[in-house]
Amino acid sequence: MDITQEMNRHTSSELFAEAQNYFPGGVNSPVRAFKSVSGPPLFIKQGQGSRMTDEDGNEFLDFCCSWGPLILGHNHPSVREKVIQTVSKGTSFGTPTRLGNELGKLIIDNHAYLDKIRFVSSGTEAVMSAIRLARGVTGKSKVLKFDGCYHGHVDSLLVKAGSGLATFGVSTSAGIPQSFAQETLVIPLNDQEALEHTLQKHGHDIACIIVEPIPANNGLLLQDKSFLECLRLKAYKHNVLLIFDEVISGFRIGFEGAAGYYNIQPDIITFGKIIGGGMPVGAYGARTDIMSYIAPEGPVYQAGTLSANPVAMAAGYAALQELLQPGFYESMDNKTQQFVATIQDHTSARGYPVQMQQIGSIFWIAFAKDRILRADQIDPQSMEKFKILHHHLLQRGIYLGPSGYEVGFVSAAHSIQDLDYAARIIIEVMDIIHR
Ligand SMILES: *Cc1c(COP(=O)(O)O)cnc(C)c1O
Repeated sequence: MDITQEMNRHTSSELFAEAQNYFPGGVNSPVRAFKSVSGPPLFIKQGQGSRMTDEDGNEFLDFCCSWGPLILGHNHPSVREKVIQTVSKGTSFGTPTRLGNELGKLIIDNHAYLDKIRFVSSGTEAVMSAIRLARGVTGKSKVLKFDGCYHGHVDSLLVKAGSGLATFGVSTSAGIPQSFAQETLVIPLNDQEALEHTLQKHGHDIACIIVEPIPANNGLLLQDKSFLECLRLKAYKHNVLLIFDEVISGFRIGFEGAAGYYNIQPDIITFGKIIGGGMPVGAYGARTDIMSYIAPEGPVYQAGTLSANPVAMAAGYAALQELLQPGFYESMDNKTQQFVATIQDHTSARGYPVQMQQIGSIFWIAFAKDRILRADQIDPQSMEKFKILHHHLLQRGIYLGPSGYEVGFVSAAHSIQDLDYAARIIIEVMDIIHR
């Protein structure tokens, strides 16, 4: 492999230098800055299907897919046409629209774990609102979360476990009062004992347990089904609401997301990413009695100027309709499994410490000997290997999210040939890394 011939990043470098004048760190969301991999971030100008092209004209097979929303790939024709048709009539009215009803109906009719939903404009907003709802319903204030789950940049959820046995949170960002962080308890994933212990001790103060049922923001930390079932039972027992944060897993692992996959009924589900078909949409949903607490029906206030924006509703509707085609998820799962197995077979045969984790069309490349199910099992040193992988793959036209803690996404637009090509290149780079 020729690594002397570096891909041209001239225009991206210039644009990034210019962006420093306008945005902190030159970006509008921190991971985009490429801080944990090498070189400037790529400025992308267009995408089509499984590929996207940067401002220097380099083309990449994209496994980031806008961090998850693009399950159909870039610029899907039916999404594009529906957006163009809608936008030609205006962009926002601040009133209810027929399109909102249509997307609401499509979701409610095809999702057995929800009776009603409320649209918002991002995953963070969905989570923030779901937490308020849980507090409003239970009259309790604390939140129990898991180390290694990300729920957007909600104040009380940007926390990690304190030192020692203390389960009260310590904030991971400046600007969060200690009193907010202390409303959150943090325990490890997949640990039924810690869960029982914490609920015994603090259950009377805990409004909700929030979990990514498929934790996919800190590697892919697939949980034992028995742990998720235990969450459900214990939450009932202690009169605590169970929130499944399905901002990534919703519509990704099946139309009914992780709730459907594991057949577990959470009390509240949050959505984002795929639900907007590439436009800014989030949502939260629950049973009718829980949702009746939301204003104007109930006392929990939550509102949004651009909520259920018609153009975004149109994109979401067009995208979700495609997901309901028979065989959609089976095909996504099959090709991703095949892709992951090709790489794993090679690395296992050579004895490389590599674990390819996968569920549906989500995968994660972990440089580790054993399966990882908790955040503290990830070796920060292994990220050096990811950095090399990322760099080589960019040179060969393959784009992964710029951090080893990020998962990869396969879209419906990724062909078997695309995946065979990517597996072959990844294997070559694995050989280089472990030489
Ligand atoms: C992406 C994500 C969020 C935050 O969504 P934004 O749209 O980025 O605000 C929250 N929870 C989970 C599980 C996510 O993956």
